[in-house]
Amino acid sequence: MLLGGLQKNSLIDYPGKISCVLFVSGCNFHCPYCHNPDLASGTVIPPDYLTEDWFFDFLKQRKTFLEGVVISGGEPTLQTDLASFCRKIKKLEYPVKIDTNGSDPRMIAHLLEAEVIDYLAMDIKTDPNGYTPFITGALSPEDILSSIRIIMASRIDYEFRTTYVKPFMDESVLEKILDHTAGRITICMENTHNLPQVFLQTMTSLAQDRGLRFAWDIGYTDILPSDARARMLKFFSDNSRYVKVFHLHDINDTGGHRALGTGRLKVAPYMDIINTIKADVILEIFPEKSLLDSILYINELAPKLKTMP
Ligand code: SF4
Repeated sequence: MLLGGLQKNSLIDYPGKISCVLFVSGCNFHCPYCHNPDLASGTVIPPDYLTEDWFFDFLKQRKTFLEGVVISGGEPTLQTDLASFCRKIKKLEYPVKIDTNGSDPRMIAHLLEAEVIDYLAMDIKTDPNGYTPFITGALSPEDILSSIRIIMASRIDYEFRTTYVKPFMDESVLEKILDHTAGRITICMENTHNLPQVFLQTMTSLAQDRGLRFAWDIGYTDILPSDARARMLKFFSDNSRYVKVFHLHDINDTGGHRALGTGRLKVAPYMDIINTIKADVILEIFPEKSLLDSILYINELAPKLKTMP
């Protein structure tokens, strides 16, 4: 396995579980909006300590805290020893989730047959006929469709996700993907502050009629003018029944960013949003200090948050 990085704890990457996220290096796609271009290109320099032996020792030590392991990327299915690696994780009695771009249905089938994974999340980038040349150099549309069919026929938990980025995704492409996935798709909504109302209304109709669901990143809504912010907040509240998860990630008390290592979000400007939305909001907290500091910070924050029924 070509390891690229490790996020030691996450509340949003494995639904319902506290997980760690192991990032592998290298990807056969080149999505222009990739969040991890160094990982995708295979040029990321992992920390010195991050070896396979170290990782398995880490999993043994975190047994009382972690509930699952996510292997993400990069593209995990490019790693030829992925199945044996997953089997070693499962021997430690951790459920394993794989995040994949769905380009290798043979590896997906192999992982399922070997019964070494418990959850599959496949990103669907665009119409299966439209991946080349802007997402990847060469790929048969049948590979994407085949991965979708294999995953839907499996007995494990799964999700399909897409990111609404033009020109790869628009309403007609989304309709096609909803057909292929029988509506079981979640749209990851980033940069909500840039979304026009008419677009949001269209998405709500698709949620009502076709089963579309959202994973809504509420970051940056604090920079909106107050009237736009109030409109967005009302939209979140009115449509929370279509939302699988609201999340606010990369926050801490100083504004540090987990991926970039530079400042990003502070929690204070979001307290009114968190307390107004009629659904759970998962806070992903990265004090970039110790686990103990994280727990202390969460404890300090808790009394300021609403209590969910
Ligand atoms: S598939 Fe994922 S890791 Fe690969 S380039 Fe696209 S967004 Fe980046």
